[in-house]
Amino acid sequence: MKFIVFEGIDGSGLSTQSHLLKEYLLGTKAGVLLTKEPTDGMIGMLIKNTLRKRINFDDTTLTLLFAADRTDHLANINFDAYDYVLSDRYYISNFAYQSQTIDLNFLIEINRYARKPDRVIFLDVKPETCIERITHNRDHIELYENIEQLKLVKENYLKILEHLKTKFDLDVVFVDGNRSIEEVRKDIIDALTDANILEISD
Ligand code: ADP
Repeated sequence: MKFIVFEGIDGSGLSTQSHLLKEYLLGTKAGVLLTKEPTDGMIGMLIKNTLRKRINFDDTTLTLLFAADRTDHLANINFDAYDYVLSDRYYISNFAYQSQTIDLNFLIEINRYARKPDRVIFLDVKPETCIERITHNRDHIELYENIEQLKLVKENYLKILEHLKTKFDLDVVFVDGNRSIEEVRKDIIDALTDANILEISD
């Protein structure tokens, strides 16, 4: 089983590309689960309602809810039943978005028992492009979805990914997500094949 995580700022194409990778893998007859954080569970719903600005939690509570949603998420996945588990966002999102107000060491500590991904795909897209995509295609704008926030979150992502690579030996690959959906899709498959994450023979 390989656990592959997609990360990036809002509008970077996480949902699009994780679905395309799932379709590709299913086409190879592999067993695939595509999952997502925040989840559709009870704790995930509290988080989604906060992101949609319907309810409000202080930053520490929201951070703990994200970590609790993750333990609940992991407890409900039978990793052994699949060849690939793909997650659209995981703890690195939590670190990048919440470390603006919450200490990174605390964030890392409360995620200590979360399964380590085999490979993290970071979709690297300009914040301006992301905002354009979001405003063209969505009927609502969520918390963090403005240019200043996305720029800050992207900076955080880059710093944190470097830290996690060095300190925790996290396997991260950067994919230029500014290009067409098809070009990005191909790059993702190449990035996984190069790392021997995809054990597929044509
Ligand atoms: P995320 O899940 O990261 O927020 P989505 O996959 O939902 O992003 O993409 C946001 C919007 O941008 C969607 O309408 C999607 O169709 C569009 N989109 C995704 N990738 C690209 C791309 N490479 N080029 C142009 N538009 C894209």
